[in-house]
Order: sequence, then C-alpha cells, then structure tokens
Amino acid sequence: MATALVLFSAGQDSATCLAWALTRFEQVETIGFFYGQRHAVELNQRDPLRSAIAELNPKWRERLGPDIEVDLAGYGALAESALTTSRAIEMADNGLPTTFVPGRNLVFLSVAAAHAYRRGAEVLVGGMCETDFSGYPDCRRETLDAMQSALTLGLAAPMGIETPLMNLTKAETWALAHELGGEPLVQTILEHSHTCYEGDRTHRHAWGYGCGACPACELRAKGWLEWSRSNAA
Ligand code: ZN
Repeated sequence: MATALVLFSAGQDSATCLAWALTRFEQVETIGFFYGQRHAVELNQRDPLRSAIAELNPKWRERLGPDIEVDLAGYGALAESALTTSRAIEMADNGLPTTFVPGRNLVFLSVAAAHAYRRGAEVLVGGMCETDFSGYPDCRRETLDAMQSALTLGLAAPMGIETPLMNLTKAETWALAHELGGEPLVQTILEHSHTCYEGDRTHRHAWGYGCGACPACELRAKGWLEWSRSNAA
C-alpha cells in the first residue's frame, strides 16, 4: 500500500490511528487543524507525540513523512461552540453536546483530501468512532462512506477514508495500541497524547494528563480502567 494521510490531533485516538497507519502503509504523513480551540495544549502535543511514536520502531521512523498544520480559524469562528469559546460543556436542547462543532469532520476531510491529492496519498485515516459516541453525526461510518464517494468523484481520483477505531470502545482502542506497539506504545500515548477539553496538563493520572472532570477525561479514565482490568485478568 502506498501513502496515507492521518488526521492527527494528538489525542489518544489519532495517536492509535498513526501507529495503525505506520504498520500498513509505505509512507505516512500527518495533518492537524487549528480552528480556534480555546487552548493550544493539544496542538503543542502533536510534535512530541509524533516523534515519540516514530522512535518506537525503525520501520515506523522510516515511513513517517512530513506533517502540516492548517489554520481553519475562520471556520472555527463560524462554527462557534463550546470547544472554541468558553461556553459550558453540556447537552443542548437539540440532544447534541455543546462540544459539537457542526460539520467539523466534513471540513477536515475536505481539506485533508486536498492536501492528500497534492501529496499523492490515496487514503485518509481518522479516529472517528461510533461506539463511545457523543452523538456526533459526522462521526458515523454512513456519513464517511458518503464523504468518501463525494471526494473520489470530486477529485476524479480514489480517496479512501479508513476509520480503524469505528467500532471500538476506548478500552478496545488501548488494546489495539498494545497490539500494534506493545507496552512502549501504550506508555507513549499515555504520556504524550492529550484529550482533556480543559487543556489541563498539570495533573497526571494513571490514564494520562487531564483535569479528570470534563467529559473527555471521564471517557478516557473509564476506558483506561476497563482496559487495565481486562489486561490484568
Ligand atoms: Zn479534562
């Protein structure tokens, strides 16, 4: 298989996706997006996490190509929500969490596809997941299948969308990381990935850094606990 472009945000999911792509593709590049997130913590973790993953395996280091960060602040301003402003993270009247940024994955995938096309990559890899689903309609495989068709038609070139985490729980995502890179990859993701919505990197828990109270931390802590238990059993 040729070249893949991984949507890499430095969260647990995209870190696992990067390792997944590095085991499967000859060439792997990464892309990250700035869309006015209310803290830069996640973006700041992209470089250290990328390098740390590549260093785990000589083949991975050889396969990992360039990274690009794209400024989508205009889109972020347009799509204003809890992630990009200081609104409270809670359920809104429409049944979606206020962390929902409308159409975010559709925008990211369109921009990623434009970059992939120029770089000669035919596959996009993303950590979208239906399982521990917050109700984000643009994370559904059905949406991504339609997007894959639209991109392939619109570019007149094949543009696959791979979502290795689509049917995994957070615990199973840890299990996948372990399968791909053993304990060193698990430890690397724990130490360098960032998930917390509040941008907290001062509190280190067994499951990594975070405030421990926001929905993202709760989900990550729960997944880690589940996986540690089954791993110890
Ligand atoms: Zn948190």
